[in-house]
Amino acid sequence: MKAVVLENKGVLTYKDVPTPEPGPGHVRLKVKAISICGSDIKRFVDGHRMYPLILGHEISGIIDRVGSGVSEDYVGRHAVIIPLVPCFECEQCLRGHYSACHSYSFIGSRQSGGFAEFVDLPERNIFLLPDGLPFECAALIEPSTVARHMLALGDFKSGQTAVVLGAGSIGLMLVQWLRILGARTIIVTDLLEDNLKIASKVGAHVTLNPSKVDVIKEVQKFLGDGADLTLEATGVPQVLEQTLPVTRPRGKVVLAGNQPLDKFLPLSFIENMMRKEISLVGCFMSYSAPFPGHEWTETIAALSDGSLEMETLISHRIPLSKAPEVFEKIGAHQLAHQKIIMNPEEAR
Ligand SMILES: [Zn+2]
Ligand SMILES: [Zn+2]
Repeated sequence: MKAVVLENKGVLTYKDVPTPEPGPGHVRLKVKAISICGSDIKRFVDGHRMYPLILGHEISGIIDRVGSGVSEDYVGRHAVIIPLVPCFECEQCLRGHYSACHSYSFIGSRQSGGFAEFVDLPERNIFLLPDGLPFECAALIEPSTVARHMLALGDFKSGQTAVVLGAGSIGLMLVQWLRILGARTIIVTDLLEDNLKIASKVGAHVTLNPSKVDVIKEVQKFLGDGADLTLEATGVPQVLEQTLPVTRPRGKVVLAGNQPLDKFLPLSFIENMMRKEISLVGCFMSYSAPFPGHEWTETIAALSDGSLEMETLISHRIPLSKAPEVFEKIGAHQLAHQKIIMNPEEAR
């Protein structure tokens, strides 16, 4: 089969690799749509823990083959990949904290992912889809589950106010979930006007561009002492520092952006957090018990009833064979984009 392989830092190749055969307890998915995640780009630009590796974890397709011990009824069903492969046996798995599993694998970062024509996965990692759901919308289920998980961690309640820092794919999913769950006011910040425009389209009440306005002052104008819940989805240190000033005393901040590890925060940050008694909550992936969690079932429900809008978030559709070229451009900051959907069938 054809696949896109990360061979080394900055080296991505479209090539022939052996087609996987599903082993016992496994199924094989014929990939129909792949969405590029910011973390795929980070692995390409900054390098990764292992080579060679087929990247990609935001994947939908059709189950075309099953291994021994798996029901043949799965063949032909539409499905999306649940990328986390927990052990289901360690202390954290038994607690239902699957992303803290002592020995997890992850499809597309620790084992072969979906930048390919086929992907092999354990039966437990398929999430069946209703047949009518477009594959490219289904490929965006995983980032939606991350946003839904952030709101669960932030204990978001209908009628509350929220500030979303960053209108990338997670930020735009956050805006939609806040709208669906009944937020009173949704304020979104981003440096790119295009992202802010989409944020307004999918439900933001106020959009702020930090290159043009003082975000902290503007938030105070709308929300007085600050938001009930602030969501950090940029991974930029200066934005992380903004989280406390835009949050009300006793409010919550959920962090999901990956910060650069060589940067530091002034300890006045902790001082501010203490004085305002703000809860700072970390977010890693999108899982809860029973596996994979309500984040996934709620996403499917919201997609099925039309409340979750995916098409607006898609800026590009390309054949899989173009992935190396497109990653080069993104790495060199030469391609403004929102979600990019790749299709392996157009590769021939
Ligand atoms: Zn992702
Ligand atoms: Zn475990």
